[in-house]
Amino acid sequence: MSGHGATARRTAIVTGGGSGIGRAIVHRLAEDGFATAILDLDAGAADAVAAEVREKGHEASAFGRVDVSDRAQVDGAVGRVRDRYGPVSVLVNNAGLTGFKKFLHITGEAWDRIIAVNLTGPFYCAQAVVPDMVGAGWGRIVNISSSSAQSGQQFMAHYVASKAGLVGFTKALALELGPDGITVNTIPPGFVDTPMLRASEGKGLLGGSVDQHAERTPVRRPGRPEDIAAACAFLVSEEAGYVTGQVIGVNGGRNT
Ligand code: NAP
Repeated sequence: MSGHGATARRTAIVTGGGSGIGRAIVHRLAEDGFATAILDLDAGAADAVAAEVREKGHEASAFGRVDVSDRAQVDGAVGRVRDRYGPVSVLVNNAGLTGFKKFLHITGEAWDRIIAVNLTGPFYCAQAVVPDMVGAGWGRIVNISSSSAQSGQQFMAHYVASKAGLVGFTKALALELGPDGITVNTIPPGFVDTPMLRASEGKGLLGGSVDQHAERTPVRRPGRPEDIAAACAFLVSEEAGYVTGQVIGVNGGRNT
C-alpha cells in the first residue's frame, strides 16, 4: 500500500459514500490502498460506487442501507466492516443532510433530524471505531463540516448549527485522542458541485446559478468532489500525523 505505513492500517469507512463528495473520497482512498467501506442511506448508490471502484481494480464494499443517526445500524454495519476487512483505521464522517427554511419556519422535527444526521451520526460512528484505533495506537478521523459554519448562512440555522457543532466536536476529540496516535480534523467544503448543490440550485436556493457563483469565487470555478477527496487523502496519510484539531478549508478562497 502506498504511503500509509503498516498494512494493518488499511480499513477506511466513508459515510455518505454513495454520492457527491463521499463518492470521490471512496474512490481516492481505495486508489491510495485502503479497503474502503461505504455506509450510506442509499444502499443502491453505495453498491454502485463499490462496483465502480472494484472495476478499477481497487477494494471497496457497500454494507446495505445504513442511517448514521441510528446507533444500532451504525454498530451493526461497523461490525460487518470489521468482519470483512479487520479493524478500522480511518473514519470519514461525510454523510450529511441540508436544510433551507426561514428561522421561524424550522420545525422541531426538522431541527432534530439535521442534528441527528450531521452531528449525532459522527458521534455514533466515532464511538464505534475509536476502540479499534486505540487498540492499534493509530487512527485518522476526518469530519466533513461546511464553510457555512465559518461564515453563517441565512435560512440554514439548523444546518449551520449542526456543522458548527461538528467543528467543535473535532477540536475536542483531537485533544482527547492525540495521545492514542489518533488525529481528528475537519474539512469545511464550500460550493462543491454535487447532487446536493445542484438540488439547491434547482430549487432556487443559492441566490443565483452555480455559474454565477463561480464567477464570484476567487479561483473562478465551483469546487469538485475530487478537491475535497485530495485534502482528505492527505489528512488520513501517515505524513499528516502532526496535523490534528484543524479546520482545513477547501473552498476556492470563498472563505479565508
Ligand atoms: P450528497 O450528494 O447529497 O451526498 C450525501 C450522501 O449522504 C448521500 O448519498 C446521502 O444519501 C447520504 N446520507 C444522507 N443522510 C444520511 C444518513 N442519515 N445516513 C447515511 N447516509 C446519509 O451531498 P454532498 O454535497 O456530497 O455532501 C457531502 C457532505 O459535504 C455533507 O455532509 C454536506 O453537508 C457537506 N457539504 C457539502 C457542500 C457542497 O457544496 N456540496 C458544502 C458544504 C458542506 P441519500 O441520497 O439517500 O440522502
